[in-house]
Amino acid sequence: MDIYINKILYNRSLVDGPGIRTVIFLQGCDIKCSGCHNEKTWNMLDGHKISVKELFNLINDVTINKKVTISGGEPLLQLEALRELLKLFKDNNYDIALYTGHIKDELPKDLLPYLTYLKTGRFIKEKQTSVIPYVGSTNQCFERVDNIETIEK
Ligand code: SF4
Repeated sequence: MDIYINKILYNRSLVDGPGIRTVIFLQGCDIKCSGCHNEKTWNMLDGHKISVKELFNLINDVTINKKVTISGGEPLLQLEALRELLKLFKDNNYDIALYTGHIKDELPKDLLPYLTYLKTGRFIKEKQTSVIPYVGSTNQCFERVDNIETIEK
């Protein structure tokens, strides 16, 4: 299956979840928050099309720690491809964070077992924060969802 991506940051984000993470920015967003810092991700047709397997291999070949964050754009817009990608990462023992602009109740429940971390909620410009880790505005929630207590490596 194919998936549309905007860009990949390899092994260098410290703000998209705990540890040094690789971030995949998926293309396409229908939420369109006022003040969004990533408007270039909105139009699906502006993205690069790649197979899910190829995307996984690109990351798996160079990861330093198997910590990956799937962001956007809005990842739930490409739900079937997202499921396939999550399965590949999970089968290979990745620590996976998913960033969505939706609230947790709107997340398909079958996605939760793949995730270590989940960030939910749209960006609200008037509630912007630079002090709460891993979120852009105070209404958003970043949480551990695998219920396993570990010491961060
Ligand atoms: S959900 Fe994310 S990418 Fe979409 S408009 Fe909001 S902040 Fe931008």
